[in-house]
Amino acid sequence: MENIFNYINGVLQAPVSNQFLENINPATGEVYSLCADSDERDVAQAYEAAEAAFPIWSEMPTNDRSKILLKIAHLIAEKNDELALAESIDQGKPLWLAKHGEIPRAQSNIHFFATAIEHFASEAHAMGNHAINYTLRTPIGIVGCISPWNLPLYLFTWKIAPALAAGNCVVAKPSEITPMTAYLFSKICIEAGLPKGVLNIVHGLGPKVGSAIVAHEKITAISFTGGTKTGAEIARIAAPMFKKLSLELGGKNPNIIFADCDFEKTVKESVRASFTNQGEICLCGSRIYIERSIYEQYKTAFVAQVASLKIGDPLQDDTKVGAIVSKLHFDKVLSYIALAKEEGGAILTGGKSFNPGGNCSNGFFIEPTVIEGLGHLCRTNQEEIFGPVVTLQPFDTEEEVLAMANSTQYGLACTVFTENLSKAHRVAGKIKSGIVWVNCWLLRDLRTPFGGVKQSGVGREGGWEALRFFTETKNVCVKI
Ligand code: NAD
Repeated sequence: MENIFNYINGVLQAPVSNQFLENINPATGEVYSLCADSDERDVAQAYEAAEAAFPIWSEMPTNDRSKILLKIAHLIAEKNDELALAESIDQGKPLWLAKHGEIPRAQSNIHFFATAIEHFASEAHAMGNHAINYTLRTPIGIVGCISPWNLPLYLFTWKIAPALAAGNCVVAKPSEITPMTAYLFSKICIEAGLPKGVLNIVHGLGPKVGSAIVAHEKITAISFTGGTKTGAEIARIAAPMFKKLSLELGGKNPNIIFADCDFEKTVKESVRASFTNQGEICLCGSRIYIERSIYEQYKTAFVAQVASLKIGDPLQDDTKVGAIVSKLHFDKVLSYIALAKEEGGAILTGGKSFNPGGNCSNGFFIEPTVIEGLGHLCRTNQEEIFGPVVTLQPFDTEEEVLAMANSTQYGLACTVFTENLSKAHRVAGKIKSGIVWVNCWLLRDLRTPFGGVKQSGVGREGGWEALRFFTETKNVCVKI
């Protein structure tokens, strides 16, 4: 059985405790590898390695830093199939999704920031002939990056790429539920010749490793993606130390469908927005609001497409819905389906666990589930489920749907379907979320700001926003 080691000071090593956690394949329910169960001692070692590497990395010419990162990106592309298989086994997602979506995106993340840093320029503000101001943006130092289990390598690289490109050294923690591709990534960094200590990956539990990174007094910026509750805990610890924080948190995204939408395209895209990666994407639409005049027509078409999605072995090419990431999460999602029924919801399709048989008999599978008949304020429609479960609700007016869509504590993403341009802009302007997609979903340009409002987060990732987060800004005013 493979051991997943920490990557500290350029080498792969066991945790100080020499303890390991069982890592489970969610499609089979079997333990298939062991993950380092690290603690604050490993974080301290990682910090020291990062501190020693910082002068070399931060002062390296940008072009040389960029070349090393491009080599890492190149190696990800070369090992795409190996990484995709590892991601599928570790997380439960369909292999084709990892192969054609997530691992290529991890490669793009590194490539994007490796090249972006070469174009990252400072502003100058001239005060007539009296003075000139220029803005310096220098690396912060040692930063912490903590990522979740749903898109493991994709979100891990989304954080560390801008941090490293900007010249910081990093202490990173992937999710203990899906540590495998971060481990394979550490081998790639070694192969690419990343100087030792520049990136350190410490595996283990959130309350042990993650909290040690957050509490470390010399790690002065934290970029975190995960649940809102964890984000609040991180903010509580970091705030008195005045750490720079970027928090990408939970969502409960509305999907608004107007009667004047392009019907066939809308049904297809909203199925994708609901159930890609088993609904385990923070951006998935989970509350579908449909204008009443097309409610029945939409419901029939949507439910028929959802019922035809093939659930099962993530490694098979025709699987559309794979395994839920863990037994704990599987139980949580099923408990929300039970809650929806208690709250008076009617299950239109799905609603149960699923046994694909064979190798996957003990895996954690849930049928894609569609529920109707619930009010917008009930718990099912207010709390994040983060699984293959969506609700349908009719609406009559734009004002009504905006009020329902904006009624949760979250504000991450929203999808709007309409062929009326003015309506699309009007609704996009009034939705309280950080991201709005019109007639599409998860169409991403890495230059755009990414993040949420309300309890979906603080700060923005992507493009210059990420490079600004990972640099310290200083204005210099020179009198002429
Ligand atoms: P989580 O908050 O449980 O864990 C996220 C990471 O934080 C893991 O690495 C975990 O080990 C670590 N962690 C846990 N407790 C910690 C603590 N006290 N201190 C420091 N680190 C700690 O989240 P999860 O279950 O892994 O991920 C699912 C959540 O992530 C969902 O709420 C989802 O919406 C959210 N998410 C948000 C985005 C976004 O971009 N906004 C993207 C993906 C996932």
